[in-house]
Amino acid sequence: MLAIDGSMDAPRKCDVLIAGAGPAGLATALYLQKRRPELAGRVVALDKAAHPRFKVCAGGLIPKTLLALDELGIALDVPAVDIVNGEARTEVGDVDLSRGDVLCRVVRRDQFDAMLARQARDAGLEIVEHCRVLDVVQEGGLPRVETDRGPFEARVLIGADGSGSRVRRAVFGSAKDAVGRALMIDMPVNPETAREFVEHRYVFDFRCVSGGISGYCWSFPCVIDGRPHLNLGIYDQLPRRDRGIAGEQALMLSELRKAFPQLPLDGLERRTLNWHAFPIRWFQRADRYSVDNVVLAGDAAGVDPLMGEGISCAFEHGKHAAAAVSRFLEGDAQALNKYDEHLHRGSIGRKLAILGFAARNFYGRQHRAFFRIASLSRRAQEIGVDWYNGAAHVDELPPAALLTRWARAVLFGGSVR
Ligand SMILES: Cc1cc2nc3c(=O)[nH]c(=O)nc-3n(C[C@H](O)[C@H](O)[C@H](O)COP(=O)(O)OP(=O)(O)OC[C@H]3O[C@@H](n4cnc5c(N)ncnc54)[C@H](O)[C@@H]3O)c2cc1C
Repeated sequence: MLAIDGSMDAPRKCDVLIAGAGPAGLATALYLQKRRPELAGRVVALDKAAHPRFKVCAGGLIPKTLLALDELGIALDVPAVDIVNGEARTEVGDVDLSRGDVLCRVVRRDQFDAMLARQARDAGLEIVEHCRVLDVVQEGGLPRVETDRGPFEARVLIGADGSGSRVRRAVFGSAKDAVGRALMIDMPVNPETAREFVEHRYVFDFRCVSGGISGYCWSFPCVIDGRPHLNLGIYDQLPRRDRGIAGEQALMLSELRKAFPQLPLDGLERRTLNWHAFPIRWFQRADRYSVDNVVLAGDAAGVDPLMGEGISCAFEHGKHAAAAVSRFLEGDAQALNKYDEHLHRGSIGRKLAILGFAARNFYGRQHRAFFRIASLSRRAQEIGVDWYNGAAHVDELPPAALLTRWARAVLFGGSVR
């Protein structure tokens, strides 16, 4: 930034700079603080907003995220609705997703993110709020971040600034073809009659695939300011540009109405204040996640293409980014490249690649055939749910071990966990 006398502002220096204090940025900080407590005061996060801040999100924490919180020693001390029953509606029939234990805990993101920020601050993270990242330039190998509150310089920069990441755009380029769209509505309900509350149930409805949406509708019970609500929404992994934004939103709202005809969803096109739309960047194998001293995490890096679930990815990226940054600060010059390699070839990369394959097929031209195959075996469905949810870390098993457990569980019964 140019000062009044024409000179450049001297940058504020730190060891690790994190752009974005959402789950990905905060998880990176929390894992880093756990590994290297002596870094307290040398790690800075920048956020354009201030916690607690609204975030368009259904707030479903799958067991993988809950395991990450356990690993970090963080108790979930915000209001949450536990989901123990689930169903997926498809064109070829309904699938029961219940597993006898918690499938998901539904929180509000303003409260959840503020809780993470509090924990990270307590452990020594400085969060500079109301500070918007504008650009990143690499000077002599060191990333210099231009913000509306002056420049910052660090030995390593984590781009965790969400789907519209400035860091990604400045350092990695930004293909728009891997960005999905989700739209959501919060609606007050009577908890004594709403099935989602009575049965602690979430609903996924994939029947919109035949209506031209590469995704699904959902309904989650949640609590806002102490009052029971349903969080409803629709995700489209591949919004078609030829429809235009208004056309795409009209189609999404119409499919949402079809999925939940019992709810008062008429006229939403005119009631734009009642719903929120937001992009979700999903993982692509061809992308890179580290360049020089800059790495990406969370939505900025790309998350689950099938369901648009991203909080568990944010924690997983944060964990590996923290390990890489820690090794880098100890002198391992290749550590950040290894992070890129891990995001492609490690368990998270494998999982996201499989979810990409699933999205291409369940949302592709042969979707009916794939939903039919998925409906055949109850056992295989249970295993799929455990794997997706990361229950007992089964998603981290090496492919051969997972296949063996899967084959044994399908053929002879028993648990894959
Ligand atoms: C409608 C909807 C429903 C969803 N439901 C779920 C769900 O139920 N479960 C689930 O796991 N995932 C869900 N997701 C996905 C989930 O919200 C994201 O994957 C998750 O928020 C990613 O975390 P993040 O930290 O990478 O990014 P974000 O949560 O977007 O955080 C990025 C942070 O960076 C800040 N920031 C952005 N730009 C700048 C800038 N230029 N300068 C400084 N700061 C900046 C923002 O203020 C924000 O605090 C949903 C998404 C949508 C859109």
